Amino acid sequence: MSTYQVIARKYRPQTFAEVVGQEAIVQTLKNAIEREKTAHAYLFCGTRGTGKTTLARLLAKALNCSARKGCEPCNECSSCKAIAAGNAIDVLEIDGASHRGIEDIRQINETVVFTPAAGKFKIYLIDEVHMLTKEAFNALLKTLEEPPPHAKFFFATTEIHKIPATILSRCQRYNLGRIPEEKIEMALSRIAEDLGISLEKGALALLAELSEGSLRDGESLLDQAIAYGHNPLTENILLEILGLPSRDLFFELDQAVEEGEILAAFRLGEKIYNSGKNVSHFLEELTLHYRALLLTGQGVEVKGRDKVQYKRSAARYDQGQLLHILEVLIEAEKVLRFATSQRTALEMLLLQIIRTKQPYSLPQLVEKLVALESRLETPAPPKEKSPPASRKEERVAKKTPPKPEESVKGRVDTLLRFAAKELKGTLKLE
Ligand SMILES: [Zn+2]
Repeated sequence: MSTYQVIARKYRPQTFAEVVGQEAIVQTLKNAIEREKTAHAYLFCGTRGTGKTTLARLLAKALNCSARKGCEPCNECSSCKAIAAGNAIDVLEIDGASHRGIEDIRQINETVVFTPAAGKFKIYLIDEVHMLTKEAFNALLKTLEEPPPHAKFFFATTEIHKIPATILSRCQRYNLGRIPEEKIEMALSRIAEDLGISLEKGALALLAELSEGSLRDGESLLDQAIAYGHNPLTENILLEILGLPSRDLFFELDQAVEEGEILAAFRLGEKIYNSGKNVSHFLEELTLHYRALLLTGQGVEVKGRDKVQYKRSAARYDQGQLLHILEVLIEAEKVLRFATSQRTALEMLLLQIIRTKQPYSLPQLVEKLVALESRLETPAPPKEKSPPASRKEERVAKKTPPKPEESVKGRVDTLLRFAAKELKGTLKLE
C-alpha cells in the first residue's frame, strides 16, 4: 500500500530550475557553483516557506554531485540520492532548535577536521540557527574563523536579528523574499494538474492569497483541500473546507452598510458565530475584503475577486468610509483576541461598520457648512443698543423667536456638534 506523501515533500525542487521565486539568489548560487567559487558559510534568511532549506540542500547536492550537469545536480549519483533521502554521511542536517547547546557544536568542531567520506565536501546544514545559545555561537565562531577547506556551513533562519554580528560577518548572506502570488499560483496549478485535481481559477487565487508568500503554506492548504476528496475544487468548497466565511456574507454586509440596517449586525454575527468559524480568521478575511473594496474603488482590479460584484459593493462606500472601516478592523484585531464574549465583540464590530454610513458624505457636509458660514458673514444691519432689561422683560424676551442671524448661527453650531459626534474617528483634527 502506498502512503500519501505531503505535497511539499513530493514536489520539493530537485534542481535549481525547479525553484519557485528567488531568481537573483538562484542565479548567484549557480554562478558560484559553475565557477567553483563557493563560500565557506552561507546564511539563508527569510520567512517560513520561502525556500531556505531547499536552496541549502540543492547547493549541498550540487557541490557533492559526482556527475553535475553544469550547475545542476544529477539527482542520480549515490551522493544526490543520499542527500534526497536525508541519509548522506557527508551532509549533516542539524535542527538548531533542539540542538542548541555548546555540546552539540563541540561535536561539530570535533568531526569537522576529518575529510569527507565519499563526497568532495563535508557540509553542515543548521536550520533555525538563531536558536543556538550564546556559548554555542561562540564555539561555532571558532570553526568559522578557520574552517578546513573541505567544510561548508549552511545556516537557515527566520530571525536574522538574533544572530551575533561576529557570525554574520563570516557568512555570505541571502535574504529570501516572500514568493509573489502569481508564482505560487503557477506552482500550485502545476501540482494540481499532476495530481489530477481540477482547481477552479477562484480557488487557485484564494490558495495563493492565503499562502502569504509561503509556497509551503500554499502546498499544505492544497493538501488539506485534497484530503476532502472534492474534485473539481471550487472557491466555495475551498472556503468551506478551510473554515472561512463565504464571500456572500461580505456582500450582504456591504448592502446592510449602505442601507444602514443596524439589525444586520446581529443577523450576520449569529451566522458567523453559529457556523463555528474562527472569529480571528473571519476578521482577517473581512479586512482583506475591505482592502479589495478600497482598491476596486480606485479602479484597481484585485486578483481573485469577482470584478462585477466588487465594483457593485465598492460603489456602496465612499473612500473616507473605507479607510475608517479598515482602521476599525485593525483596531478590532487587538481587542477581539482578549474579548470575554467573542460573539458580542463581533456584533459590536459589525454594528460599528454599519454605522459608518453617514447621512451626508464628508464633502457634502463641508459644502453645507461653507454655505451656512457665508450666509452668516453677510453684514447684519446695525443694531440699536437697548437699555438694560428688567428680569420680567428678559423672561418675555426668551419667548420671542430668535433673530434670523442668530438662528443661522444656532444651526451652524448644531451642525458642527452633530458633525463632531458623527464623524468621531473619521476625522482627525490637528
Ligand atoms: Zn549527482
